[in-house]
Amino acid sequence: MNIQEIVSDQKAFFKTHKTKSIKFRKMYLEKLKELIHQNEELLYKAIEKDFGKSRFDTFTTEISFVLKDIDYYLHHLKTLSKPKKVSTNFANQIGKSRIYPEPLGCVLVIGAWNYPYQLSLSPLIAALAAGNCCILKPSEIAGNTMSAMAKIINENFPPEYIRVYEGGIDETTELLRFKFDKIFFTGSTKIGKIIYKAAAEHLTPVTLELGGKSPTVVTKEANLEVAAKRIVWGKFLNAGQTCVAPDYLAVEQSVQEQFLEMLRKYIKEFKYTPGSDQYTRIINQKNFQRLVQLIDKEKIYFGGAYNEEQLYIEPTILTNIAWQDTIMQDEIFGPLLPVITFTSFNQIINTIADLEKPLAAYLFSNNSDEKEIFKQKISFGGGCINDVVMHLSNDNLPFGGVGNSGIGHYHGQYGFETFSHQKSILERVTWGEPNIKYPPYSEKKLSWIKKFL
Ligand code: NAD
Repeated sequence: MNIQEIVSDQKAFFKTHKTKSIKFRKMYLEKLKELIHQNEELLYKAIEKDFGKSRFDTFTTEISFVLKDIDYYLHHLKTLSKPKKVSTNFANQIGKSRIYPEPLGCVLVIGAWNYPYQLSLSPLIAALAAGNCCILKPSEIAGNTMSAMAKIINENFPPEYIRVYEGGIDETTELLRFKFDKIFFTGSTKIGKIIYKAAAEHLTPVTLELGGKSPTVVTKEANLEVAAKRIVWGKFLNAGQTCVAPDYLAVEQSVQEQFLEMLRKYIKEFKYTPGSDQYTRIINQKNFQRLVQLIDKEKIYFGGAYNEEQLYIEPTILTNIAWQDTIMQDEIFGPLLPVITFTSFNQIINTIADLEKPLAAYLFSNNSDEKEIFKQKISFGGGCINDVVMHLSNDNLPFGGVGNSGIGHYHGQYGFETFSHQKSILERVTWGEPNIKYPPYSEKKLSWIKKFL
């Protein structure tokens, strides 16, 4: 089927209003859940082939995530879809005001490769829950996972409702020529701009889930042991190829030495060693070469080894880093952790606040003034105090960026709203019509209006 046919079939199918029924949506969400269970092995194998991700990581960060999303919508769909009553202002009495969430139509979801199942299927699930038809274009960079999703979905769902469209830049460029009712994109800020421009041609609303350099600040007021353990996990999980991974550390000088030792201890304890089944590979040669060039040998505190053939890079900590260093210019997206030191908390916060708004930011401190300053002065998509990454696992928190790190958000209720239009309807009674708003106008009418409005 060519793309033209898929888009027009989905548009025609949406007009049948079948996707608006809660029963219909639940039936297909259940079906997807069942298919994920049935094909769990296929999903593990595909991602293992793409970048050596372990079954443990694949289950905890991908499959369980997607299953949890389906369960969330199965459980909350009725409430989320219900019209919401709101109060009616005096001028519209006697009347009732309601907000009706309605699906947008035919939506396009473009996924990234680093958590290929989660980043493709979670938006798809939210789109279906909200009653849309959906074309999913996963990332070609994780080609085996893309094919696995295409196999599972295209062999089991009607194409006029859901279709996985396999392809790379050319296919995505072709897709972007069509008028969708929404585009949901996950990927880099650079490509996000291309998507935004293409969407503007059709006035298509977008959600852009982008990246950025997410700072992690560790002060002398932190529980250093806990901070080190959580940071090592969040940074080197998926070999640092996580959009909300701590990009760099800013550590208070007086505790730096002690803290670096703790980081080293946890890297060893977690067995984040190249070749071990705990540790993920770099996705491809291009990213591998980009990362290797960022390793300044003079600044290695820990790690620095790599294996080009197997695409492994050892967890690497770099010290004596300055803001002008190459590694501090763009998102790292790999297992390299540069460490900057600071002596003034206010100064480091002001410096970070002057940079582009990141997708995430983290503070490790038990000092309430420091927490307050961090929350108030830095703008970022979302983050944690005394943890990293985990905020995105709470469905009650919207997940998304701000400024350069994105537009819009999803997860839980926010995912449903992202793929819905909030239609406002005022319904009036047809009796009792005061003439006050109608011409001919008079001073007397104006003085009444002034009193009431
Ligand atoms: P990417 O921007 O290279 O690719 C993302 C998608 O865009 C892919 O499906 C790809 O096929 C498509 N694409 C690539 N070039 C294109 C072009 N010229 N025209 C049209 N489409 C094109 O990103 P990536 O390498 O897959 O992912 C890494 C980036 O994504 C990082 O910056 C990371 O921070 C970000 N990211 C963000 C989130 C989030 O939730 N905010 C999650 C994961 C990754």
